[in-house]
Amino acid sequence: MESQYWKLDPDLKYLQVYSMKEKILGLSEGDLVGRSFLDFMNPDDADKIRDVFYSKEKKPLSFSHVVVRYVSMRGFLLVIEISGVPIFDENNVFLGFQGTEKDLAAIPIQTDEKDAPQLELIFGLAPIAICAVGRDGRLLAVNAKYADLFGSSLMSLMGIKVADIDEERGEKIVQDFKHLDAGVSVPDHEVSINNRDYLVSVTPISSATSSVVAICVVLLDITERKRLERVVAVANQRLAEMNTRDYLTGAYNRRYFDEFLTRELLSLGRTGGCLSVAFIDVDFFKRYNDVYGHLAGDHCLISVVKAMTEALLRATDCLFRYGGEEFVVVMPGTDEAGALAIGERLRESVYDLNIPHSENSWGRVTVSIGLRTIEAACAYCNMNTSDEIIKAADEALYRAKASGRNSIASSSQICTPGGN
Ligand code: GH3
Ligand code: MG
Ligand code: MG
Repeated sequence: MESQYWKLDPDLKYLQVYSMKEKILGLSEGDLVGRSFLDFMNPDDADKIRDVFYSKEKKPLSFSHVVVRYVSMRGFLLVIEISGVPIFDENNVFLGFQGTEKDLAAIPIQTDEKDAPQLELIFGLAPIAICAVGRDGRLLAVNAKYADLFGSSLMSLMGIKVADIDEERGEKIVQDFKHLDAGVSVPDHEVSINNRDYLVSVTPISSATSSVVAICVVLLDITERKRLERVVAVANQRLAEMNTRDYLTGAYNRRYFDEFLTRELLSLGRTGGCLSVAFIDVDFFKRYNDVYGHLAGDHCLISVVKAMTEALLRATDCLFRYGGEEFVVVMPGTDEAGALAIGERLRESVYDLNIPHSENSWGRVTVSIGLRTIEAACAYCNMNTSDEIIKAADEALYRAKASGRNSIASSSQICTPGGN
């Protein structure tokens, strides 16, 4: 990008101009001489540029690095940076201005000249937002979709510093250049603009000497894809829930119980501490069905689960339907005394439901509970399989039933090799 020379008369008409400017504006050689410097200029910029050449008192001025935008005969935008000084003859008579300029948007992309208009057309019409950003953070090229993104016109965006539209994005571009200069590619990432999601890809535009002269930023609208991802995620979560829940009562199911207890036992072996399991069985439930019907039995189970769930205050305590009218509560980090207190709350919560049960000596639906507490005094506890724990809790339950139902019995165990 070499500086190019021009000379203007006091009315800003070209006296001399470099031929490339005529070419990039789509004119023939010599066409610009005699025409105004403001011809082909973006009207907004043309309004302002007069104040750059002359003060309010009509005094000619020097200026440097002023950015203006031209529209070429082919309709493409050029971003030009100009610097100039007034010129005078030996008698101090003002002759006009001379200066230089450079085409900021002249990115040296290797392309076949004859393909260029077609490429520019594709660029303009592409359904994805594309822009090229120069090293000074200015937008050198934007397509219509990119302008839509910011609700701006192509004309108003060209030559503007990205940081002036969006400070954060401007800072990001500085970082992108740093990465690319160091030979590190910029990973694709997602951004949200005006409530829509975009996948952003940043690629370097390199000169012949392979220094990074600009970056190309492509924004692909992925709002719909993200929406579908969210729908699928919710559906997957529901499916996972269905896989772990019992359909009648909503308690966790037997399959999840096996997985949960195995995981908790492994964790116990690693970190130590203790774990308790409560085996809960509804008393005389066969007779309940016989007297009140199976459907009432179903409703009774739903109420029992609801009451017990509410009685569990710690998020880590989990209630499972083990099968039929049998439930298990796993209480990680709970010793025997703690388990007895929780068991008592569970028993009471069902008792307090006061669901009439004529065939139960308590006159209402009750549960009996067998407890088993495991203490991880040594790695031996890893050998306690879920089955053994349930067996021990079931034995305790048998004792609770034998002692008149609506009661709790415990069977604690300190794990020592060979111990029981
Ligand atoms: P115990 O006090 O000794 O536990 O007596 P029980 O009658 O509760 O014990 P038993 O195991 O003989 O009977 C359990 C009953 O639970 C039998 C079965 O019909 C009933 N049951 C199991 N699952 C369901 C269910 O989903 N809905 C209904 N309504 N009843 C069920
Ligand atoms: Mg039973
Ligand atoms: Mg029962």
